[in-house]
Amino acid sequence: MTAQDCDVLIVGGGIGGCVAALAAARAGARTVLVERLGFLGGSATAAAVGQFVGWETAAGRRVVAGIAEEIVAALVARDASPGHAHFVMSTGHRMDRVSYDPEVLKLVLDELLGAAGVAVLFHATFAGLAMRGATIARADVLARGRTLTFAPRVAVDASGDLELLAAAGARFLPLEEGEVLQPATTMFRFGPIDYAAFDAIPAATLRALCAEGVAAGALPRAALHQSRAPGTDDGWFNVGRVAVDSTDPFALSRAEADGRRQAFAAAAFIRARVPGCAGGRLTALAPQLGIRESRRVAGLHVLTADEVRAGTACADAIAAGAYPIDIHPAQGAGLRFETLGEDHAYAIPLRCLIPAGLDNAFVAGRGISATHTAHAATRVMPGTMAIAQAAGTAAAWQARHGGSAAQVPAAAVRAALVDAGAIVP
Ligand SMILES: Cc1cc2nc3c(=O)[nH]c(=O)nc-3n(C[C@H](O)[C@H](O)[C@H](O)COP(=O)(O)OP(=O)(O)OC[C@H]3O[C@@H](n4cnc5c(N)ncnc54)[C@H](O)[C@@H]3O)c2cc1C
Repeated sequence: MTAQDCDVLIVGGGIGGCVAALAAARAGARTVLVERLGFLGGSATAAAVGQFVGWETAAGRRVVAGIAEEIVAALVARDASPGHAHFVMSTGHRMDRVSYDPEVLKLVLDELLGAAGVAVLFHATFAGLAMRGATIARADVLARGRTLTFAPRVAVDASGDLELLAAAGARFLPLEEGEVLQPATTMFRFGPIDYAAFDAIPAATLRALCAEGVAAGALPRAALHQSRAPGTDDGWFNVGRVAVDSTDPFALSRAEADGRRQAFAAAAFIRARVPGCAGGRLTALAPQLGIRESRRVAGLHVLTADEVRAGTACADAIAAGAYPIDIHPAQGAGLRFETLGEDHAYAIPLRCLIPAGLDNAFVAGRGISATHTAHAATRVMPGTMAIAQAAGTAAAWQARHGGSAAQVPAAAVRAALVDAGAIVP
């Protein structure tokens, strides 16, 4: 079969893949994005996460802008987000956030990628590849019962679970002793909620209710964390926990069913016991289980928790993060939440986006080269989008100028990002 030529092939249309595609296409690359679902956004829409958190330091200094901010502006313009705001977490920490309507985000991403000229293939699953030495020469995509073959100059793996890189023989970072993958969650929409009553629940009462829900087996997580669906009296609840390795097909399938069971049990408890919720019911399940962590690639540099804590500077920094280390344990109802200081930010090196041993591949999204603990800080969406903008920019640069991914000059990527309104440390 004849392979279709393209400059940049992006596997996965989650928030990372979309932003990478926008950056690549706007830099002039003929960009194809392959998404196995029928809409864009990945966890941001399919798992109904509903809020972008981690835009600024605790002191209020912004560290993420660029395409991420453009997406916020488009959501606000459609009345699908109140824009930047703050809330108090169950841990008592004040956090910045942009809540949004996941349905409108699908539309916003369609429009942005369409305007940028990205060729989006929905219902299309990456299914294998052919290597030429360390180069990804061809990639097969299964779409509507047919195999489409692409010959990309550069490939970007934004599939979250890094399926393209696994097929290309990339190495992945192991969990260290005592570490386990963060659990997955089936988000659910519940409403209507009397928010005057719900928001007035005293902190001590809330803690007691959470403890009661955990003891009753109704709340896997000791929290009633929810994000209000803009313009409605419904909230998207994030209280489930399913321990799963999402790269195992049978385990993932069991986890989907388990997540749904948890959601209905939690909703019944919320309706029966939580002030403001007696008139509500579960009105929607997120279309799929939300995966926090799976494969993390072994890149040219591995970002460590010590570097995140120290805010270690690097010459090839392409994005900054300020979100704390936030680990949901796979077992137990608590949260390991490690704040990093008032005006603390950390740098993400371009080398973390380049898989070791491959010549024409980048990672965009949650699977960058970072340890389990460092990933717990970089995984949230503003940072994911900033990283993805750099991945798309670097991929377009390589497609135009040639050479290997490792030879893409960080200075050129940094300059292009600044020109495009991104914040580079
Ligand atoms: C329950 C939960 C709550 C969270 N809460 C927050 C929060 O409050 N705020 C925040 O900012 N972040 C939050 N996060 C983190 C954040 O949502 C994710 O880390 C981020 O969305 C990951 O984006 P991604 O594009 O890297 O991957 P994903 O969103 O996983 O996207 C990967 C995409 O690739 C597609 N794909 C996979 N395999 C293939 C294939 N073979 N072929 C074609 N397509 C494929 C998938 O369908 C998907 O669209 C949360 C995550 C979860 C799971």
